[in-house]
Amino acid sequence: MASIKKVAVIGAGLGGLSAAARLASNGFQVDIYEQNKSAGGKANNLKFDGFRFDTGPSLLTMPFVLEELFNDCGERLSDYLELKKLELTCKYFFPDNTILNAFSDQKRFAEEIALKTSDSKESVIKYFKYSEDIYTLTSDLFLYNSPSQVSTYLSKKALTALLNLKKIDTLRTMHKANASFFKDKKTVQLFDRYATYNGSNPYLAPATLNIIQHVESKLGAYVPANGIYSISEAIEALVKKKGGNIFYESKVSSILTDGNAVRGIKVNEAEKEYDAVVSNADVNYTFKYLLNDSVLSESKKLRKLQPSLSGVVFYWGIKGTYKKLDIHNILFSEDYEKEFFEIFEKKICPVDPTVYIYISSKYNNDDAPAGCENWFVMINAPFNENQIWEDEIRKTRERIINKVNSMLGINIKDKIIAESILSPVEIESKTSSYRGSIYGISSNSKTAAFLRQNNKSSSLKGLYFCGGSAHPGGGIPLVILSGKIASELIIKYEHNDD
Ligand SMILES: Cc1cc2nc3c(=O)[nH]c(=O)nc-3n(C[C@H](O)[C@H](O)[C@H](O)COP(=O)(O)OP(=O)(O)OC[C@H]3O[C@@H](n4cnc5c(N)ncnc54)[C@H](O)[C@@H]3O)c2cc1C
Repeated sequence: MASIKKVAVIGAGLGGLSAAARLASNGFQVDIYEQNKSAGGKANNLKFDGFRFDTGPSLLTMPFVLEELFNDCGERLSDYLELKKLELTCKYFFPDNTILNAFSDQKRFAEEIALKTSDSKESVIKYFKYSEDIYTLTSDLFLYNSPSQVSTYLSKKALTALLNLKKIDTLRTMHKANASFFKDKKTVQLFDRYATYNGSNPYLAPATLNIIQHVESKLGAYVPANGIYSISEAIEALVKKKGGNIFYESKVSSILTDGNAVRGIKVNEAEKEYDAVVSNADVNYTFKYLLNDSVLSESKKLRKLQPSLSGVVFYWGIKGTYKKLDIHNILFSEDYEKEFFEIFEKKICPVDPTVYIYISSKYNNDDAPAGCENWFVMINAPFNENQIWEDEIRKTRERIINKVNSMLGINIKDKIIAESILSPVEIESKTSSYRGSIYGISSNSKTAAFLRQNNKSSSLKGLYFCGGSAHPGGGIPLVILSGKIASELIIKYEHNDD
């Protein structure tokens, strides 16, 4: 392949923006093609009837990943974005009326668990140390580097991790590990919940994923002062400042190839030549629709993997303000195992769903009219398998209203004054996510983390991937890292290091 000067990025999701900013900053000519009218992909913005909502993500972890992106491009994050660290990460409501506050201070959080459950402060501190050890051992291997590079496995940290497999806890499930630390069902449920941060089932996902709670509770949970969408706006501004171009309402219909190398893309019926293509679109979608399944050897194994969780979100403009609720709130189900069985096995919306309520107007008054709140209400849902979504959504809406009424004592039925709904079908159509999955593939097996698509194609030269369905996975910090890894692979290629 000739040297890389011009790069096309398909999609202006956070992963695509991250790759583009870094490439533009390194002197490449970068053009992003985005099918929607604005940047951000799942991290977008919705405004109606005086309310504003973040459409997808609601919580930022690992803010240092964002800082690094701006630093690498010679800029300062604080010139683009004001981040606030949350003192209270989440307020948990349990069916037995327990209300438990997840404080960002780990000691305070452990004391709260000891106060509200039958578990001791010491057992929680021990658990925090266990989860921190997993992070220390695995983050280099699973988060920060490309699994396609031999050098990844040769670093001192990676070798230490491989020699400490027991500590990484790959053989137990998350739930088994959590149940071994705690005797109270509530504590176990609270820590099992972190499996959903990468779209998985805690009763199947390997305990290594207990790393996620460390990322939130030790490294901190954040929100930008103007809502999560301002992260998308900030990186979009960074791309433009570094000289990258973004073309909106430009749906790429195919990736053009010449033998075993890419030569460009087709967009709006026009063929455009590029030296390399970075796809921020879902990897299954990329292989199936943009490459017409022409590289089946690489895509076949991906298609067999189970997609991650999807979700149903109700964006509700609510009359009144509610002191009982904080910015992030969870109303837990009675039987968590049954809930995941319904989602992943029966592929229906849970009969007793765990309900997540995010209210950004609690920290940004502009997001709702005076005397009102903007409730982003989400449940975990199965990926799209042509369920009758109209029925699923109708039943889910009723269940949520009843649950909010019984657990919080708030009769919201008459208080919903504005409404919009996001289902797995819309997640699929708006962002091209395979079957509406939110986080690419699920991690419901011991090997899943190793089967995720690499950031560089093994069959087509010049084709790279970033975003939630590629390594290292979904969630804001991880997709920004995926953009970093993809751009580094291109830069490395240019320097003939690879
Ligand atoms: C409801 C919900 C809640 C979430 N909560 C959290 C959270 O609290 N914290 C967190 O960290 N993460 C959360 N996430 C996950 C997070 O939003 C995603 O992992 C991340 O934003 C995905 O980024 P991405 O780079 O994969 O791109 P995506 O957001 O998937 O965007 C891909 C982009 O590519 C474009 N595209 C696709 N095909 C084409 C084409 N052919 N031509 C042109 N453009 C194309 C799409 O339009 C889209 O803009 C949540 C997601 C959802 C949906």
